[in-house]
Amino acid sequence: LFRYWTQPKQREFLAQQAESILAVVGNATAGADASLIEALPKLEIVSSFSVGLDKVDLIKCKEKGVRVTNTPDVLTDDVADLAIGLMLAVLRRICECDKYVRRGDWKLGDFKLTTKFSGKRVGIIGLGRIGLAVAERAEAFDCPISYYSRSKKVNANYTYYSSVVELASNSDILLVACALTPQTTHIVNREVIDALGPKGILINIGRGPHVDEAELVSALVEGRLGGAGLDVFEREPEVPEQLFGLENVVLLPHVGSGTVETRI
Ligand code: NAP
Repeated sequence: LFRYWTQPKQREFLAQQAESILAVVGNATAGADASLIEALPKLEIVSSFSVGLDKVDLIKCKEKGVRVTNTPDVLTDDVADLAIGLMLAVLRRICECDKYVRRGDWKLGDFKLTTKFSGKRVGIIGLGRIGLAVAERAEAFDCPISYYSRSKKVNANYTYYSSVVELASNSDILLVACALTPQTTHIVNREVIDALGPKGILINIGRGPHVDEAELVSALVEGRLGGAGLDVFEREPEVPEQLFGLENVVLLPHVGSGTVETRI
């Protein structure tokens, strides 16, 4: 078992072990790109303990006959729970309230009023396993649900929009829960952010590159977007520092599936 990330000279290490490595184990942040796959001629399998396979070059794997496995279903509950947590945290300012108490500010006066979550219109980009699990949870909060996917789901009793802009225009909270592919990179762009508007909330528990982060930051700083709850970022673990001072933003270090129960 080699811990690749501890190798000081990764290229030399790969050259030395090229004939012996049969399997690569990855996760949401480290996978197998074309150069890694090319460097390991005996590679048989890439196994990722994430559901997203955006860090694995699937085309190269197919070309080389390398099997690929991931971990769908097992993490759906955790990620959906956290999405709801982010919605509540942003609207009810839970993190800000916590700081308020810890700073001793409560003794100086009551915390200001916040925004109700129950009944808000939730729009979901990608009604897959996680998107559906969030929809079911949000329904318990009496939230009307709508979604955007490449195709309308025959069994889903939610409103379908065939464009993300239309979905955003008809949502109070927009959730990103689709797979990251070249087609969904920056699926949340300036037009979508503007459609969501100054009272709208963006929740991203998908992948950082789903959102044009520069556009998101400027919209939040300029007050063109109401708030954001983000578990993922474009250049993890780098997070735009302009967000640190904003009380309408909740920032998490990509912990969607990070519970002991799920990881076991
Ligand atoms: P899933 O069941 O495969 O759902 C993926 C969804 O993406 C499908 O509904 C699919 O809908 C949609 N999609 C794919 N291409 C699209 C496109 N071009 N435009 C619009 N929608 C598209 O996967 P899942 O288990 O729900 O996981 C979803 C994603 O969540 C993963 O890929 C991963 O990136 C992310 N995730 C994040 C964390 C975290 O820690 N934050 C943890 C787990 C997963 P259609 O086929 O109908 O288009």
